[in-house]
This record gives sequence, structure tokens and C-alpha cells, in this order.
Amino acid sequence: MLPYGRQLLDERDVEAVTAVLRSAWLTTGPVVEQFESAFAGAVAARHAVAFSNGTAALHASMFALGIKPGSEVIVSSMTFAASANCVLYVGGKPVFADVDPGTLLLDPADVEARITPATRAIVAVDYAGQPCDYEALRGVANRHGLAVVADACHALGATYRGRAVGSLADLSVFSFHPVKHITTGEGGMVTTDDGELARRLRLFRNHGITSDHRQRDSAGSFFYEMVELGFNYRLTDIQSALGLSQLDRLDEFVGRRRAIAARYDRALRELPFIQPLNVSPDVEHAYHLYVVAFDLKQLARTRADVFKAMRGENIGVNVHYIPVHLHPYYRAKLSVGPGFCPIAEAAYERILSIPMFPGMSDQDVDDVVAAIAKLRP
Ligand SMILES: *Cc1c(COP(=O)(O)O)cnc(C)c1O
Repeated sequence: MLPYGRQLLDERDVEAVTAVLRSAWLTTGPVVEQFESAFAGAVAARHAVAFSNGTAALHASMFALGIKPGSEVIVSSMTFAASANCVLYVGGKPVFADVDPGTLLLDPADVEARITPATRAIVAVDYAGQPCDYEALRGVANRHGLAVVADACHALGATYRGRAVGSLADLSVFSFHPVKHITTGEGGMVTTDDGELARRLRLFRNHGITSDHRQRDSAGSFFYEMVELGFNYRLTDIQSALGLSQLDRLDEFVGRRRAIAARYDRALRELPFIQPLNVSPDVEHAYHLYVVAFDLKQLARTRADVFKAMRGENIGVNVHYIPVHLHPYYRAKLSVGPGFCPIAEAAYERILSIPMFPGMSDQDVDDVVAAIAKLRP
């Protein structure tokens, strides 16, 4: 089975990790700092703070912004549940907003329509690897005094109007899960230009304590103070060594993803019953996912049939995503459900993610296209 996503590691990664295993320091130490500073450089942000995973990084972002009970945060409905769960972790209320039907990116006009006096922030999701319309979102945020958080877990390596994802929002969140652009096994990062937000992120990742173990060692002191309620969300040096080594190859990985996308684009143009998502001329896409929408009427099939037929051809298609407001937990918790974000709901019925990862060969791409072509009525 050809999966929809998979990591790409080689001997350089293995050597980088084993070097840390032979060193004196395993957890959050010098290699985390090196990874943070290389990452900040790669996305043109002033600060990068590493976390144990992307979900922890989202949680910390909500803490850093001061989201609390009584706060509302507008979140794209077409995303992984973690984009909204982070708001609940700090006692806030996620308010789902709808997406543009062509790109499935957060619709700035719908965001504005859902703002109330309690709204404090927007979580924009760079769905599939395409940056949101940050100029429009920034306009909405400025008019209403809101913070913008980019859930950029799909979009490392993408640009919007020539600017790197990671420098477009007040806080940008990344994941290093193995299906993402670079991996640390599990891991995450938040980038920001704001030194005070970076300080709060670091506090939150280490129990709300003002200094870490290494700082106390080097100051020759035992003393520390816990000033906030934080968590242990630290990334290790072992993981960061893998992250650094992977980051070295980010351009190569993203370049290969773009080449695969171009090959899909060309081949799928010939098939009238399938439509890839729109790509804005303002962006360079990072293609975490390659998402297509089927014309199910033309095919005279359900999406479930298409899914089964593709899996039957050993093509590991997937669905990204079930709109978050349709999950039972959210329906019960927030009294949301069908009709709340109709564009995301209609898109959900028609979409599939087809395999997209840098280790795919051109032959793999052609095999996927051939399997899709067999669906022709
Ligand atoms: C992967 C992902 C996350 C969560 O990242 P983890 O590292 O798995 O915790 C959050 N949001 C989106 C959109 C993601 O794709």
C-alpha cells in the first residue's frame, strides 16, 4: 500500500542522532537551541520555541496570548481537531468559521461575521500546505484587536507574497510528526517576532518555571521560581538532532513535493471528474497534502465507493478532514453540527487526499493517476 504520507530519513539523520546519544546531554540542551535558531532562520522569524509536539505548541500559543475562560477564538472548521482543542485546554471557546470552496482556506469574510465582543484571536490553518490570505486576515484582526495564530503544521517551506510561512502571523505553529515536511518522531515549534510571547512560550513548556536546569547549573545555583502553571512540553536534544539534520534538506523535500504536485496537475487535467484544489497566485505551496475533489454525480458513485476502489488498488488515500464541528464531542460541547459551516461540510463529502511525500517516485505518481483513471464511468 502506497501511504498518503511518510518520512524520508537517511544515514545523515542516523549519525546526527547517534552523536547526541554518545554525548553528555539527552534532553533539552544545546542541540534544542541550535535547532530553534536554525528553524527561526529558515522561516525568517526572530524567535523559535521547540515543543514536544505540535499540539503542545498550539496549547502554549493559547497560553502565551492569554486566552482564558470567557475568550472566544475563531478556528477554521476544515482542520485536525488539535487546532480547536487548544482553545478548550485553556478554558476558551472555539468558534468555527467556514472556508473558501476553492482552496478550503479560512474565509476572512466569514471570520469577520463570527466576531463578538469576546473574540480574542483567530487560528488560521494553512490547509494542505497553502498559506491563508494573511493580508485579509490581518485586516480583520486589526479592525477588531485580535491576535492571528497560524496553524502552519501543513505549510513549512511555503510562502505568501514572497514572505515565508512562520513570519506571517503573531504566532506560527509547526509539527514534526513523521507525515509532515520534516520529522523529529514527535515534535513541534512556535515562531514569533515578539520577545514577550517567546518568553511566555518558554515558561509554559517548562512547568511555568523561570529558569531551566542548565541555566541553574551554569549560574551555580539551586534556586528557581514557578510563576505560572505550565507543563512539561520539552523537546529533547535527541529529537532536535534529527530535526536539524532534516531541516538541512527542507528545500529538497519541498522541491520534490512541488514536482510531484506538478506531475499530478498535468495528468489530472485530462480527467473531467476530478478537480484539484485551487492555488492562489500569491503563494508558493508546500504540499503537505495533495487534495482532490470528485464530481460524484458524474462518477455516479459515493465518496465511500471511490475510497474503497482506491484502497483496492493499494493506493493509501485518506480524508482530510471531517470538519471539526461535526465531531460528537464538539456537537455536544458547543451545540454545533450540520449547517454551521456549510462550505466545509459540502467539501468534506467530495474530497480525498492522494499520496504525497518526497520519497515517492514518478512511477508511484503515475500508478496513483492510473488508479484514479480506472474510476472513469
Ligand atoms: C499535525 C497537525 C497538528 C498536530 O501536530 P502533532 O505534532 O501531531 O501534535 C495540528 N494541526 C494540524 C493542522 C496538523 O496537521
